[in-house]
Amino acid sequence: MSETPISISLPLDKDGFLRRECPICEQQFKWWPTPSEEVTTEGTQEASEAYFCPYCHEPADPDAWWTKEQLRYAQELAAAEVLRPELRRFKSDLERGNRRSGMIRIDMSVPPISRPEPLAEPDDMVRVDVPCHPQKPIKVNEAWEQEVTCLVCGIRYPVELVRALPEKEGEVAE
Ligand SMILES: [Zn+2]
Ligand SMILES: [Zn+2]
Repeated sequence: MSETPISISLPLDKDGFLRRECPICEQQFKWWPTPSEEVTTEGTQEASEAYFCPYCHEPADPDAWWTKEQLRYAQELAAAEVLRPELRRFKSDLERGNRRSGMIRIDMSVPPISRPEPLAEPDDMVRVDVPCHPQKPIKVNEAWEQEVTCLVCGIRYPVELVRALPEKEGEVAE
């Protein structure tokens, strides 16, 4: 099968976080998508071989974290963008063939395949900043009270230690 690349734009929440789902425990969290390591600080380009689930601490391939909704969206989008033009081409080939032969008539209608509704991203979950990788914050379920794992290196922290605190009073962050 030939692979036709399609580009998918996934919604981010208002803080710029992307929803993810652990392929092992199937719980959802969010991470901060880094735009393909555009900001590289002198050779510290971390080509991550795996990311760690904040909940079950298991590592998995960096592109194994699609949520079920995102996968379904991608499939529907692929159907709309790839399949439909192919069906159209097939249909017109058939019609051309019909005209030439004049004997057999095959009718085919292309089913309506519309692009899926874009996904929405609610502003849920609570932000967690790990001291070992401050450039890779995550968001976890509000109700999560156990340890959270750093996405990048797998170090675990008690959630109450790294959960984002409300802005400190009387301090102006510059
Ligand atoms: Zn997990
Ligand atoms: Zn870390």
